[in-house]
Amino acid sequence: MLAERIKAVKPSATLEITAKAKVLRGQGRDIIGFGAGEPDFDTPEHIKKAAYRAIDEGFVYYTPTVGIPELREAIAEKLNVENKIQCSAENIIVTPGAKQALYEAIMVLVNPGEEVLIPSPYWVSYLPMVQLASGKPVFIPTGVDGEFKLGAEQILERITDKTKLLILNSPCNPTGAVLGREDIKAIADICRDKSIHIISDEIYEYIIYNGKEHVSIGSFPDMEDLTITINGFSKAYSMTGWRLGYASAREDILKAMQRLQAHSVSHPTSFVQKAGFVALTSPESKAQIEKMVRAFDERRKIITERLIEIPEVKCSKPDGTFYVFANFSAYEEDSFRLAEYLLEKAGVACVPGEAFGEECRGYLRLSYALSMEKITEGVERIKRALKNYEVKR
Ligand code: PMP
Ligand code: GLU
Repeated sequence: MLAERIKAVKPSATLEITAKAKVLRGQGRDIIGFGAGEPDFDTPEHIKKAAYRAIDEGFVYYTPTVGIPELREAIAEKLNVENKIQCSAENIIVTPGAKQALYEAIMVLVNPGEEVLIPSPYWVSYLPMVQLASGKPVFIPTGVDGEFKLGAEQILERITDKTKLLILNSPCNPTGAVLGREDIKAIADICRDKSIHIISDEIYEYIIYNGKEHVSIGSFPDMEDLTITINGFSKAYSMTGWRLGYASAREDILKAMQRLQAHSVSHPTSFVQKAGFVALTSPESKAQIEKMVRAFDERRKIITERLIEIPEVKCSKPDGTFYVFANFSAYEEDSFRLAEYLLEKAGVACVPGEAFGEECRGYLRLSYALSMEKITEGVERIKRALKNYEVKR
């Protein structure tokens, strides 16, 4: 009965595990949630106030499809100044979440059968979006050396006359890997040479450690026309539930995304856009982001230290995001089974590695966007539960 296009699409593993944990909590179980990829901080007060103000002032009607002019201007200004991407407000579309911006970009660019390069491990929604566009996903495994770094050579090897797009995500969900300037330059050179478009998902740009620099591929010469830069407010400003994101793209691509948005979601919520403008332009926001990233950094150190204390568990050292992608294959190759076991027996929610790529058997993604106490208690529970798991094997 259902349409073919939805049949291959699996549920979102990240959202599912979070929902499952919520149900168990509702039944009175004490669950520690390493699943949800969302900051545990409240949205900063000055941003909330901007939304209250907008509602009070009656800013409750439809807005232009592409977003309110002052927000588009502010986004263009940010991209020019911080990311060195040459663009104007005409190149900006504001969307209900970065997810919608990604979906629109893929839908308007990919023809049936065209190939989309997806470095793997990859964030759970890229594959379903490509499937919905009837594109052909071509995965590029990046985990071979344990560093999860995408090499330009790997891209070159997979380019065919059907290659349309590369999806780049640095800092990367789920691995936390951050590509350096030289890595990005090499990728830009290949894509420019072969006229491959790039969707650059930069939603974790501020959540970065070890003095690493975030580099936007759209800032390299002649790359602004080939690159669709995606970003959003969910992570940087703790605004996951508000649903606000954006894309910057060449005008013809932007106009196509505008048509898709006009006939589907119309535009992001009016007063949320006003709050987004304040988030982006208020000097208070920067201090809040710094405070949040410092907290994540401390948690990152503790969670990686504690995880590698568990016998045989291997854990990458993430330079960005708030995820660790840890290898538990010494205990269990089937990551869905392991995640289920940990949820049931230890009351700990993690996302199975295989949701991020089929080669990620034995991996679990743990989000450390939760308190230090919960992190240490949660890892301790995993450690205890795995002792029994070994006995069971
Ligand atoms: N890209 C990545 C890599 C993500 O982890 C997420 C998860 N929130 C998104 C995009 C979508 O973010 P949102 O729709 O909340 O802006
Ligand atoms: N992006 C977050 C995650 O990876 C939130 C859930 C989602 O949108 O997939 O957990």
